[in-house]
Amino acid sequence: MEIKIERATQLKDKPDQSQLGFGRYFTDHMFLMDYTEGKGWHDARIVPYGPLSLDPATMVLHYAQETFEGLKAYRTQDGEIQLFRPEMNAERLIRSNKRLCMAELPVDLFVESVEAIVKYEADWIPTEEGTSLYVRPFMFSSEAGVGVHPAKTYKFVIILSPVGAYYPEGVNPVKIWVEDEYVRAVKGGTGFAKCGGNYAASIAAQVKAEQNGYTQVLWLDGVHRKYVEEVGTMNVMFLIDNKIVTAPLEGSVLPGVTRNSILTILNDWGYEVEERHLSIDELMEAGRTGALKEGFGTGTAAVISPIGELKYKDDVVIINDFKTGELTQKLYDTLTGIQWGNVEDKYNWTRKIK
Ligand SMILES: *Cc1c(COP(=O)(O)O)cnc(C)c1O
Repeated sequence: MEIKIERATQLKDKPDQSQLGFGRYFTDHMFLMDYTEGKGWHDARIVPYGPLSLDPATMVLHYAQETFEGLKAYRTQDGEIQLFRPEMNAERLIRSNKRLCMAELPVDLFVESVEAIVKYEADWIPTEEGTSLYVRPFMFSSEAGVGVHPAKTYKFVIILSPVGAYYPEGVNPVKIWVEDEYVRAVKGGTGFAKCGGNYAASIAAQVKAEQNGYTQVLWLDGVHRKYVEEVGTMNVMFLIDNKIVTAPLEGSVLPGVTRNSILTILNDWGYEVEERHLSIDELMEAGRTGALKEGFGTGTAAVISPIGELKYKDDVVIINDFKTGELTQKLYDTLTGIQWGNVEDKYNWTRKIK
């Protein structure tokens, strides 16, 4: 792939690495590529970071034909740069795009694009412990016109954001609101696709949770409002009676790269893993009897986020005395160790950028 480069005339000052937060700063350049029906992907380019100019009739603004991904680039202790399983993000983007009838981007083009922009912006990858460069690839219909049909043109964009540890004070349990009114996804819908539309529909519940003093929403299945599915931007797992229980991937749950990695590690460690329907009643009951030992969310941004409290209707359950569980901590240390290159990567998950 040939990539044209237009260098920014003025470079930004780099932010203080101890104050990065999440998704607040963006680098000097971005990656862009266009798709035109009959012509395929063309005009790959790295250009100065800045506004995109769109016709007001651009279809994405009306019908939300948009998909995205999220992964991180890490600076290892010996100064190398590595990505974590980027081909899984590429494959998921293809599945998301298929569902939204959007142009597909081959895996090798996706990975090559990510590597090119990360390498070009390499001096933006922070070096302090727990920091990384968040990579946000996204794609949208760029055709102008207000009829509802698949667009003939698309844009693929990658922006980069240096980020700090998701929780600056370290891994701490969060309070979770079990949502029993709104739903996120149903089988046959777009729950398995990483698309902006899913999030637009989820914000009302997130606002409600926050108004009640909770950090994130735990979604129940959209049909019975009974079975545990996932948490906000994360998949969710529970340690019940020494078994790990998580929702199966049946179309309404987002297939997380972190979820897959954690399940692989757990299997390796000899844990019994059950991908099955877990009713909220069973979960709350396990919380009351003490069978529920630990609970945590998994996702690229926070990696692992322990759950300290669940609130469902008028019921509240505290998990592990609102402390990070032993297994949760061990999983966090192992996976982040692999990602930053401090723990041997026997799974061959990391990919160095040369
Ligand atoms: C991205 C995302 C996840 C986590 O996926 P990872 O690949 O582990 O980052 C989980 N749930 C939803 C709804 C998501 O959008």
